Amino acid sequence: MTYAVKELFLTLQGEGAQSGSRAVFLRFAGCNLWSGREADRAAAQCSFCDTDFVGTDGQGGGNFADSEGLADSVEREWGDGRENRLVVVTGGEPMLQLDSALVDALHERGFRVAAESNGTLPAATGLDWLCVSPKAGTDVVQRSGNELKLVWPQAGIDPAELERWEFEHFLVQPMDCADGEAAVEAAIGLAMKRPKWRLSLQSHKLVGLP
Ligand code: SF4
Repeated sequence: MTYAVKELFLTLQGEGAQSGSRAVFLRFAGCNLWSGREADRAAAQCSFCDTDFVGTDGQGGGNFADSEGLADSVEREWGDGRENRLVVVTGGEPMLQLDSALVDALHERGFRVAAESNGTLPAATGLDWLCVSPKAGTDVVQRSGNELKLVWPQAGIDPAELERWEFEHFLVQPMDCADGEAAVEAAIGLAMKRPKWRLSLQSHKLVGLP
């Protein structure tokens, strides 16, 4: 299988339960809920995306012919040392491309493999960490994993319903939008009202990391 990668870079995970961890970010191109073109945003199933996942022109991006070559690039990005190797596979929607061959190739190089998905496609097998971030009005088929990350507020999503899904961590994260202050207030409000949820902030944006 070939892989279309938007970008691939070393950074610190900025959000969620693994926030602060050194990680290689592997961002696949493409998403099944939005084309990524501004002209299509209003009509998209997911309209609040803050990520450029179109094409393969980002740092470290490109088309990779096979899982071994892509895993080699991830390893090169990490550099020396095998301790606590972590790769975060994201997008776009990573489950359009992530398969067991790539998971295995990353494992062979000593990486824990984390993935961040919108949950509308079944997760690849063999993952070490799965974060699902549900979008209102979509059919989420992946209702178990390690971390449920709810971008908030979203009309049409009931947090009480999500609490029945099988996750270890329930995180509420303010939507990155024009009215950011109101979103922060809403996310704090949810965490205060429903103690199952913890507040997650996009710390990489606060400290200027990609
Ligand atoms: S599902 Fe994720 S990657 Fe796709 S458009 Fe929405 S926020 Fe962006």
